Amino acid sequence: MQITAIETVVVSLPFTMGGPYSSFAGQVWDHLDILLVRVETEDGLVGWGEAFGHVAIPATRAAIDSVLAPLLLGRDATDIEGLWRRIPHAVHLLGRNGPFVYGFSGIEIALWDLAGKRAGQPLHRLLGGRDPGPMPAYASLLNYGDPELVARNCAEAAARGYRSLKLHETTVEAVRAAARAAPGAEIMLDVNCAWSPVEARAMARALAGEGLRWLEEPVWPPEDTTGLASLREIGIPLSAGENVAGLHGFRRLIEAGAIDIAQPSVTKIGGVAEMVRTIHLCQAAGIEVAPHSPYFGPGLIATMQIAAALVEKPLIEILWLDMEANPFDPWVRAEGGMVRLPPGPGLGCDPDPEVLARYGRGAPNRQELKA
Ligand SMILES: [Mg+2]
Repeated sequence: MQITAIETVVVSLPFTMGGPYSSFAGQVWDHLDILLVRVETEDGLVGWGEAFGHVAIPATRAAIDSVLAPLLLGRDATDIEGLWRRIPHAVHLLGRNGPFVYGFSGIEIALWDLAGKRAGQPLHRLLGGRDPGPMPAYASLLNYGDPELVARNCAEAAARGYRSLKLHETTVEAVRAAARAAPGAEIMLDVNCAWSPVEARAMARALAGEGLRWLEEPVWPPEDTTGLASLREIGIPLSAGENVAGLHGFRRLIEAGAIDIAQPSVTKIGGVAEMVRTIHLCQAAGIEVAPHSPYFGPGLIATMQIAAALVEKPLIEILWLDMEANPFDPWVRAEGGMVRLPPGPGLGCDPDPEVLARYGRGAPNRQELKA
């Protein structure tokens, strides 16, 4: 079943976040940009994927358009495992983490969407699971840098049904403000690699009595597994993984005794199959899995489909913000702190073409198999 066309499409969605916009890699983050990958096969079926993402989109899109799409056109879309072996190998000299892996991730997700559509089965069924109904999500707050805004948004998220709240802050004050504003909710803290191991140990000791559900990526750089492991004895469960390169990156984290909770990210790690392999590796090592999924399209839906196929359902990460609209509505939003799977085959739903057209940023880049 030949791949006959690959398109990259960017949608840019206005949103509000209950406070001033934060920044991402030095840029004001005032629109949610999604890099969609649309893959067509010779039978006319279309699959959708999402590649990471946010301010990295121009780089990831260039990796797909210039190198990955030409490599994949004409290949067998049903040979997902074979393509995993050959395509990342063909581009491994260009980086084992970053735009080429992100780009492949988006294409691979689209291939699973196609596989499900062709089989008439949802992805979780292909992975051996069944629809569990509503699954618990956690509200992942963006950075406010102001304990009052943290408190206000935590109270609002708890009022909307979330029982688990994650902060992107770096202070004990912010954690206390969240706990006061949302009594009974569990609080997680993600500091995005803010600290050296020495600083991280001091901060972990200061946070040790706050009852955190987990402390996420406390150490810079993220590949410093020894530095991360040096915090374990302080007793706060440690999570990491969104910046880890593939299965073998997670193996190094586990072997170093660096994490309690693994956070693989489907749009970054290489797609669905590498995500599932990684989850199995972590579970075999007795490590909890909490996927990284601050996404708003096929990346989030693929994460939910993978979660549905697990016996122990992980918490699904939903960014705390309000989008004006989304082509994958309503499936990319939580209700009462829960998410549900879309009902169709593959990922379960296609984007709404009108919303795609309204919020599309520029024309799709399309490449076709030459006859
Ligand atoms: Mg994080």
